[in-house]
Amino acid sequence: MWRVPAPTRTAAWTYERCIRGVQNEDLRDRLDATSPDIVAAADGFQTAAQNGTIGTFPGAANVGYVTGGELSWVYKNRFVRASSPGRVVYDEIMTAAVYGRCPMCGHRQVASLDHYLPKASFPALCVAPANLIPACSDCNKQKLDAIPANASEVMLHPYFDDVEGQPWLVAEVGQTIPPSFQFSVGAPAAWPHVLAARVTHQFKTLHLGNLYASQAAVELVNIRQALAEVFAAGGAAEVAAHLNQAANSRRAARVNSWQTAMYTAIAASQWFCSGGFA
Ligand SMILES: [Zn+2]
Repeated sequence: MWRVPAPTRTAAWTYERCIRGVQNEDLRDRLDATSPDIVAAADGFQTAAQNGTIGTFPGAANVGYVTGGELSWVYKNRFVRASSPGRVVYDEIMTAAVYGRCPMCGHRQVASLDHYLPKASFPALCVAPANLIPACSDCNKQKLDAIPANASEVMLHPYFDDVEGQPWLVAEVGQTIPPSFQFSVGAPAAWPHVLAARVTHQFKTLHLGNLYASQAAVELVNIRQALAEVFAAGGAAEVAAHLNQAANSRRAARVNSWQTAMYTAIAASQWFCSGGFA
């Protein structure tokens, strides 16, 4: 759940670019006449995203003088397709992802653009840059075309929502052989109830607990030998100091990465530092 810099292109500029030069004259005229509806929908979306009222944003099957199917055609053939007029915006949004990582899971590689509000129900936003976010294919699939049933089910928007400041991702170490990890959302007390519910909903919908637990298990295999050497030289206290330093370094980079949560948990576990890692 990472922030991504918002696209600089406007919905008006992008839409105009996509429809310019459409060969079918009748379709081109109707697309052109629909431009004010597209701009109004994009403005309304932006306001709703900033005000946290996306849960009640109205969808529509058709827009202005065109059908949802025709706008879907515009998206596919005038925006996504290689060397189509809108592709430049597609590529700009893709490359804005930090380190090429998916902002929804913060872990996997970005594979395509995802419609934040699905184009099937919100065709007016099909090429609106603010409604298009870079995503990995797993998050894209798991999110599907779900429309939030209430305010608590509104996914975080990487251009408008910021949950990176305070720690909310928590890991626990299971005293098993090998040690196991359980990740969960521990919302800061100061958060509004609905924000805590949204982060929890997203965490579950995208199965982030399983993803992070699996990554942490692999990470542990990679550091086990080094921990054994630190333990042999200085015992549990030395292991804890070593892991605290690692946790602090990861926290300085990103407060809510699975790595920060993992190292924080193992540094604090007396059982782990006393040889549980072995
Ligand atoms: Zn992802």
